[in-house]
Amino acid sequence: RAKDLGGGRVEVFAAKMHADVVRRLELGGELQRALTEQRFTVEFQPVVELATSRVTGVEALVRWWRDGEFVPPEEFIGTAEESGLMIPLGNWVLREACCQVARWRASGWDIGLSINLRPREIAAPRFVESVATALDDSGLSPGMLTLEVEEEVLVDGGDELIARLSALRDLGVRLAIDDFGTGYASLAFLRQLPVDVIKIDPSFVAGLGRDETLTLLTRTIVRVGRDLGLSVVAEGIERPEQLVLLKEMGCPRGQGFLVARPMAAQGVEALVRTNPRGEASIPLHGSALSA
Ligand code: C2E
Ligand code: MG
Ligand code: MG
Ligand code: MG
Repeated sequence: RAKDLGGGRVEVFAAKMHADVVRRLELGGELQRALTEQRFTVEFQPVVELATSRVTGVEALVRWWRDGEFVPPEEFIGTAEESGLMIPLGNWVLREACCQVARWRASGWDIGLSINLRPREIAAPRFVESVATALDDSGLSPGMLTLEVEEEVLVDGGDELIARLSALRDLGVRLAIDDFGTGYASLAFLRQLPVDVIKIDPSFVAGLGRDETLTLLTRTIVRVGRDLGLSVVAEGIERPEQLVLLKEMGCPRGQGFLVARPMAAQGVEALVRTNPRGEASIPLHGSALSA
């Protein structure tokens, strides 16, 4: 009987696994089609200097509208990695975003671009060359491009990943640790990484003013980052109180729904045009940034 039960459980498990595999294959096929049919788009989320509200750059975020329905990147990026599609998809995002930001820069707007990378992309045989080519073709200078890699990926990545990132940095691009504070990098490790920017994970920012430990940790990350000579960006700013505290802590830059949501290129242009000061800064809903 016990054996029967066990067998039954295995069958249920196997059936679930089968369904999972089928779903992933379907999604993989759909992703391939979406890429060929150009169903992906890129949105840009402004990153501002907190003291002035000047936009210093935009983070490119891939978007997939599947039959008119938005599918969040977290739901398809894993499958894209497994099916080998992350490399062409990431390359498309890179080229698209570099061209857009190069056009903005050509029109006199001094901003940079951030792009997210998954480990599969970094490990691709010709990845460093493809970044160099995207920069050349778009005319964007390397110093204007920041490549973001999650802290967890850096910690687990090993020497090969670090070597790749160093080669990228030799091109003149900047490197950022994304979702910082969640991946357990030691301070010693942090010091030897070839990085320029740390992006504080939203889970810390969420606790600002509400949770003493998270507030203290955020303050510490800002200080350590600055002591190491790194630029610091706070992510996920949603409430005015968070903004006030981050400014008080001396956090140089930030992004979040309070500042601006990710939006299509035209949205970014409209936002900048409506600014009364005529520069690339965002008029924040009243008090928050001017406080
Ligand atoms: P990430 O790089 O940490 O990007 C920030 C995410 O936080 C974005 O989600 C953005 O829409 C969201 N966000 C920004 N401000 C706020 C806020 O104030 N509140 C809240 N709740 N969320 C905010 P998104 O676009 O869903 O992307 C999720 C993740 O998917 C990204 O995290 C990144 O790791 C990955 N991703 C997105 N686009 C790409 C891409 O083109 N290539 C690669 N390799 N990864 C990407
Ligand atoms: Mg990012
Ligand atoms: Mg992040
Ligand atoms: Mg993330």
